[in-house]
Amino acid sequence: MFKVTAIYARVSSDKQAKEGTIDSQLAALREFVAQKGWQVDPDREFVDNGYSGATLARPALDRLRDEIACGQIQRVVVLSVDRLSRKFVHQALLREEWERVGCELVIVNEPELRNPQDQVLNQIKAVFAEYEREVLLERTRRGLLHRAERGEPPPSAPYGYRYVPREGQAPAHWEIEPVQAEWVRKIYRWVWQEHLGIRAIARRLNQMGVPPPGGGEGWRESTVHRLLVNSAYRGEVYYNRSGRKGKAGMGRDGHGRTVKPEQEWIKIKVPVIVEGWEWEVVQQELKRHKELALRNAKPRRYLLQGLIRCGVCGRKMRGRESDGNLYYHCRSKQELLREKRCRSKWVRTERIEGVVWEAVKRLIEEPEQVLRSYEEQREMWLREEKERERRELEREKKMLEARHKRLVDAYEMGVISLEELVERRRRLEKAKQELRRQWIEWEERARHWQAYTEALSSLVRYREILKESLESLTFERKRELIRLLVEEVVVYEDKIVIRHILPTDRSLCSPHPRGSGRGERPFAPAPSTQGWRYPEAPLLRVELP
Ligand SMILES: [Zn+2]
Repeated sequence: MFKVTAIYARVSSDKQAKEGTIDSQLAALREFVAQKGWQVDPDREFVDNGYSGATLARPALDRLRDEIACGQIQRVVVLSVDRLSRKFVHQALLREEWERVGCELVIVNEPELRNPQDQVLNQIKAVFAEYEREVLLERTRRGLLHRAERGEPPPSAPYGYRYVPREGQAPAHWEIEPVQAEWVRKIYRWVWQEHLGIRAIARRLNQMGVPPPGGGEGWRESTVHRLLVNSAYRGEVYYNRSGRKGKAGMGRDGHGRTVKPEQEWIKIKVPVIVEGWEWEVVQQELKRHKELALRNAKPRRYLLQGLIRCGVCGRKMRGRESDGNLYYHCRSKQELLREKRCRSKWVRTERIEGVVWEAVKRLIEEPEQVLRSYEEQREMWLREEKERERRELEREKKMLEARHKRLVDAYEMGVISLEELVERRRRLEKAKQELRRQWIEWEERARHWQAYTEALSSLVRYREILKESLESLTFERKRELIRLLVEEVVVYEDKIVIRHILPTDRSLCSPHPRGSGRGERPFAPAPSTQGWRYPEAPLLRVELP
């Protein structure tokens, strides 16, 4: 059978590229191909110049994979396997991907396999977890890029649009949903013609009985805000806008997601609901509202602003002044719908702040005590960890069985229908995702414990310096210190729970901690602040006076 052959070459740096390594690679490949009596068209020579082998995101490789997936290439020749990828995991991923569509991989300098079979098996087992993780990441990345390249918007269409899936030659697209779109236009007009605020808009929509997006119980302020800043309505949707956490050089958007540099965004056109100029005017108006609110805001007098959470419903609490007294109250007290409001009471700031400040002082003055109770908790956690490990192994076993079954399926390809195969793969994929999630969570937690121990012992060391300066701290400094040491404060009716957090960088344990806002805390992230995920983090329970 005739096979269309392609060659793939890669060098990792521009320097290598200049020195002609790429040419020698190509020459060797062409010679090899000629010796075998195969033929390679010039446009089947895939070359990545100056790309690292540590990632699969390389333009030529992406094109090669596309063509293979479409069945246009049946054989790929590379000089050595590390040209394909430096990671074993990625090599395995590509091999599996191409094997599945019947594309042969020929490696000119294939190292001899000295390993007995069980050694290979061990190797595979070792990368198993990593493999699954990479596969998932890679699929998502490529899936999105494909959609973007075809100019298709994501399937999750916002209020005002309806997603129309791909059919035959017609690409997927969004269609305007006329009734909803009319409401979108009205809402935009309310902002710049009537100068309504977000809260007022939400209230008006609820009064008019307009069904909210997604069929919720009512319009919320956040829903209205999202709608007013969504660039889709002026006809533009972006891919590749937010990225994975913790990458260097990324800012944050208003929702706490990391934002990639603008030149990496991919723009897709969708039908216009609000004219460009009108959209811009509304953005200006929103900005003005925000500035006004900032100007009118009283100097912040709430020591625990942003750290304090309601124990009844779990939402954040905010500071409020009433009759000359300062209070914290649950945010859901401001819900537009009465039945959604929390039944918790307002609490005077003095009642809580003093207690928290004392606890923080105690932590600084007697870190050993905290360290001890923390060690106890850690041991308990480790015991539970053993049990978890056992369950984990069981799960892995099941997954391996599932994998085996898939192999059998592939073997019997002619017997089972394609749908059945797809369905089985889907189920397997789901189980893998879950395992991956748990794995990441476990890793994060382990890191957290480690960082915590380190930080506590550095506190022991810096105790004397800290102690001295404690009494003379200004309100601002106090607040900074609390922010450095407390993850959150949860207020119940008769007690509060203080959850600690500690800097991992020892230099930050100086009496005058740097950094102010939570967004710019200069120390390593302790565990996600999403609330209730780390119940085993060190706690301090205090009865309220
Ligand atoms: Zn509440």
